[in-house]
Amino acid sequence: MDQAKYVNYIEKIVREELDNSYKRDKDLCTCDRCFQDIMTLTLNHLPPKYVASNIGHIMTMYNLTKDQLHAQVMVELLKAIEQVKRSPRH
Ligand SMILES: [Zn+2]
Repeated sequence: MDQAKYVNYIEKIVREELDNSYKRDKDLCTCDRCFQDIMTLTLNHLPPKYVASNIGHIMTMYNLTKDQLHAQVMVELLKAIEQVKRSPRH
């Protein structure tokens, strides 16, 4: 009855930072196509970190590693944003 479920918490960080980027950068297109392009471009350059989707467990790991992963995520996210801005596919 307990289904195994996994969450890539790198993806959670990328989503969070992309949300912040939308707020900061008004030139950034928020359409679905650009959102998906930025997410996939960024995630393809980062190693996934999967954790079982127990909420408490995720939050613990997330908080512990967030700072270390944050810089790495930002580098790839900003590269993806620049690439999508240069040649949007929408
Ligand atoms: Zn767009």
